[in-house]
Amino acid sequence: DKKKLIAANWKMNGDLAANEALLHAILAGIGDAACDLALAVPAPYLAQVQALTAGTVLALAAQDVSQHEAGAYTGEVSAAMLRDFGVRYTLVGHSERRQYHGETDQVVAQKAQRALAAGLTPIVCVGETLQEREAGQTEAVVRRQLAAVIQRNGHCISEVALAYEPVWAIGTGHTASPAQAQAVHAVLRAQLRAASAQAGRIRLLYGGSLNAANAAPLLAQPDIDGGLVGGASLKAPDFLAIIAAAH
Ligand code: 13P
Repeated sequence: DKKKLIAANWKMNGDLAANEALLHAILAGIGDAACDLALAVPAPYLAQVQALTAGTVLALAAQDVSQHEAGAYTGEVSAAMLRDFGVRYTLVGHSERRQYHGETDQVVAQKAQRALAAGLTPIVCVGETLQEREAGQTEAVVRRQLAAVIQRNGHCISEVALAYEPVWAIGTGHTASPAQAQAVHAVLRAQLRAASAQAGRIRLLYGGSLNAANAAPLLAQPDIDGGLVGGASLKAPDFLAIIAAAH
């Protein structure tokens, strides 16, 4: 059975002092984690977190990556630059990128391709809005989002990780129920199986108001292979409790 992956998404939070305190507290409490662990930190802090996590179980992740390889793209960060700082994973297509930065399914698919080409594992985020769920479109939306990534990446799709993050659950305290999340994960797994013989080893993470109290039953679902944690990843005790629930 594959190891679970618990990834923190700090979003646009932190500073040098707070990051250091948080990392020390996490590392002090982590012991022998049974799962793989990654921290998606703001780009300016990659070097700091790289130095503070070197030789530990915490892998480095970025929150975004450019769809371009290099050149005149002011403000962008390339996959190769991320590699230079020891980054192993990058989020791609987070709903906040799709919503506030206009990322289309095509751009997200291109970003995943750039990440893969540079040897990074993209964590591709998909998920429906509340309006889409209420209109009965959840399955169609996540299938459309994943289809673009499969189409562009072909058999390399087995090298990605996927995160199902219902937009209505992000930062709201309204977590998907284990059954709701599992139902969508099963849809995604079936779509992946149709695209790759290796689909069984693709890790499907759940994200959206994941916390110490609700993590265990979600992470126990058959097609939930980990979690993507926003708010609760900024508090060491909460993040450690989620890690403890992942085995
Ligand atoms: P919250 O855990 O704060 O709801 O955020 C989830 C998320 O967007 C992780 O990428």
